[in-house]
Amino acid sequence: MAGESSVAPLYITMHEADNVAIVANDGGLPAGTRFPSGLTLVDKVPQGHKVALVDLPAGAPVRRYNVTIGRAMRDIAAGSWVHERLLEMPDARSLEALPIATVKQAPRAPLAGYTFEGYRNADGSVGSRNILAITTTVQCVAGVVEHAVRRIKDELLPKYPNVDDVVGLEHTYGCGVAIDAPGAEIPIRTLRNITLNPNFGNEVMVVSLGCEKLQPERLLPPGSFAIVDERNVADIGATEAAKLDVVCLQDDAHVGFMSMIDSILATAEEHLERLNGRRRETVPASELVVGVQCGGSDAFSGVTANPAVGFCADLLVSAGATVMFSETTEVRDGIDQLTSRATTPEVAAAMIHEMAWYDAYLQRGSADRSANTTPGNKKGGLSNIVEKAMGSIVKSGSAPISGVLSPGEKLRDRGITSGLVYAATPASDFICGTLQVAAGINLHVFTTGRGTPYGLAEVPVIKVATRSDLARRWHDLMDVNAGRIADGGATIEEVGWELFRLMLEVASGRKKTWAEHWKLHNALVLFNPAPVT
Ligand code: CA
Repeated sequence: MAGESSVAPLYITMHEADNVAIVANDGGLPAGTRFPSGLTLVDKVPQGHKVALVDLPAGAPVRRYNVTIGRAMRDIAAGSWVHERLLEMPDARSLEALPIATVKQAPRAPLAGYTFEGYRNADGSVGSRNILAITTTVQCVAGVVEHAVRRIKDELLPKYPNVDDVVGLEHTYGCGVAIDAPGAEIPIRTLRNITLNPNFGNEVMVVSLGCEKLQPERLLPPGSFAIVDERNVADIGATEAAKLDVVCLQDDAHVGFMSMIDSILATAEEHLERLNGRRRETVPASELVVGVQCGGSDAFSGVTANPAVGFCADLLVSAGATVMFSETTEVRDGIDQLTSRATTPEVAAAMIHEMAWYDAYLQRGSADRSANTTPGNKKGGLSNIVEKAMGSIVKSGSAPISGVLSPGEKLRDRGITSGLVYAATPASDFICGTLQVAAGINLHVFTTGRGTPYGLAEVPVIKVATRSDLARRWHDLMDVNAGRIADGGATIEEVGWELFRLMLEVASGRKKTWAEHWKLHNALVLFNPAPVT
């Protein structure tokens, strides 16, 4: 990769076999610009957009990342702007005859000696924050819970200084849905597993309406979570099913709105007392569970931010931590790279199963993977999903892929406590984030090129900018500037290490992310492939 001053005309090539490169300079470059290589621009080319390095005859493969991202729809002269209207997108790679577990890697040298301060849970997981979560079974109760959460924050939270926050787990599911239809288990298990995220300390508390389809016992059946306070159970001689701590708004005992609010506050206080007794302890970096995703991608995503995240992912795996990457439509075109990196044929088969399931899901809606790219992606220079996917997969680094989760599943239910995992999710930022929270992440890393103020209330989100221009303008929203890689100011390795060290600071609570500082919280959005009624 070339990398000098951003003032001199500069293009970036990802692989020596590529016949297109992207223009790196802020604001793009005018026609007539001559590069040090001798190439002269025929057209004005915007920043992040592709320029033909050689004459491309009609029908010729256009290569970036050493992958054919499309075919030239007409003759394209060297120095021309290669935009999406000049490219015919190739068909998706067949899921037959893929290379299976072919990449044999030498064992990695373990990365030892790194620690953070976290909250150890009874199940062995570690939280990065100490949050009271109030689970809801149905959207009907959302307004009441929002009111109660406001009062808890104002009146109770100041008495419990070791508790970071109170979060109502609001969502649109719970009733008016075909709850026994195939696929309905996905939103239900997602909500269950979010409730059990390590940042909530297993203090399970539910607010239910009463008449909804998703009854509390169906959401959290006996045995699905540990009872923290056995004393109450013994006192009332409760059965397994009665152990769940539920405030039911339709309960006959409630007379008036304030009765409901008082009941929620009283229940919350019991949990706050126990949460307040928790203390951070020094734990190895192997207890990090990091979800990575991208949103608002541009052509620099795969050049700067995602390679730096990939380098950091390798560091995490070497440290014995768990890293999860997702976004099925953004890895579908690189499925052969992923199956070849699987540790076993079973892991590869699980990945193929998830891709096939998603292909069928999209087909039911008369869509395909090309529905992924946005107008902003294209404006940022990404011509199609093939090009976007190659830049997206880089986030996973180079480690072997040792596990696969279906949407809404939890790592610990699959016995996964380390390594690189593919967690199948849609690429939609809010749905992917929601499913990764369910999987059990205690940190979230989000790369963006176009810029998004994304944040979660449940887990800290570290945002990485792909371009220095974005990092400069959004200086109080972006946590890391990977654009320095394109400017020549830092290497991929340097930014990867910076991110790794920042993760330990953020996980320890010593540093807040910008999204935490401003309390920028996107809604939880459950993935529901089943019908509504
Ligand atoms: Ca995304």
